[in-house]
Amino acid sequence: MPSYKKFLHIGLALDPIHVGAGGARLGRVELTIVRDPVTRVPKIPGSSLAGVYRTYVAMAMHESDPNREARGRRWPYYPHCAGLGQPRGDYLGHCAQPDCPVCTVFGFARGRDQAGGFAGLAAFTDAHVLLFPVPTRQGPRWITSPDALQLVGLEVHGVDQKDQKDQNAVYLGSNQNTPLNLGWLLLPVMECAHFKKITQTLQEFKIPEYICNRLALVPDRLFPHIVNSNLEVRTSVAINPATGAAEEQALFSYEALPRGTVLAWEIIAKNPKHFRIEDKEICAQVDRNKMDDPQKVLEVTKKAHPYLEHLGVGGMGTRGMGRLKVLFSDQSPSTQTVSCSASSTSATSSPSGSSAPSAGDVTASSSGTEQGGAP
Ligand SMILES: [Zn+2]
Repeated sequence: MPSYKKFLHIGLALDPIHVGAGGARLGRVELTIVRDPVTRVPKIPGSSLAGVYRTYVAMAMHESDPNREARGRRWPYYPHCAGLGQPRGDYLGHCAQPDCPVCTVFGFARGRDQAGGFAGLAAFTDAHVLLFPVPTRQGPRWITSPDALQLVGLEVHGVDQKDQKDQNAVYLGSNQNTPLNLGWLLLPVMECAHFKKITQTLQEFKIPEYICNRLALVPDRLFPHIVNSNLEVRTSVAINPATGAAEEQALFSYEALPRGTVLAWEIIAKNPKHFRIEDKEICAQVDRNKMDDPQKVLEVTKKAHPYLEHLGVGGMGTRGMGRLKVLFSDQSPSTQTVSCSASSTSATSSPSGSSAPSAGDVTASSSGTEQGGAP
């Protein structure tokens, strides 16, 4: 029996998603979202995911057992096992019992007598952007990059090689002679010889056909720029309740991952048999089965998925934001290699001068690029 198992999760944003960075930055947007510090691509931190999963699992458990008891008294899963852990007023805090699916899977902040704690059986990675919708003059395209595809076990070679003339190109399954605009960025089109392999793999993860049929692969170097220049930005203003008119100085803007963004994250589930709580073995149940292997830890976390789809993640929930539909939740795939390098460089009439703001403008974060050592 393994000590842990990794489970891949793929989710589709049904609304724009705003997971706030909790601070302002100089620039046009006041309420920014969390970004990866190296690539600058927006993400949902694993800690945010763990928090909403915990809350929603506690809600689900509460609905199936509203009169649940622990430590000799009524101790409902929600809100007591959901929140921060420390008791406060009427809030009892985490029950910290070895038979509590919430406290064992997500950990608890204290033991009995306020001592100790437990790290939890499920660990959450950050949710990264796998596919990102961008307007083009041919309708929307979902862009991805070799780095992003590694999330689903695809190792893509042959994109963005040094010896190619057009380093800034968009790769599609078939060639077309006209360049394609991704938002404001006009790029020559190249053909990726094994593009179908990418499409098929994404279909296996239950990503809808209308998305899989409209993929576009871009070099890692370009991906952050295209994502960041196509985020949703909304502007709101506070209304003065007395006058019904806009409050002065109360205009603010906020950004979000747009609806249709596809995110990928992993849940690493530990083996409950390897842990003890206060010298007792973990004896929580999920659907009347003892939670005694990593797969059953996953089953507990899955109870959050219907809530994620309806209540969502992140802020601005009252402004129609945050719903995330989980499309896939199963064992992480092993790695497959895809080579694009046999691509016929048939975008011959490459409009060298027409790549809008020239390549130099979009290489600022070239540190993270891969020079896929393709054969
Ligand atoms: Zn509990």
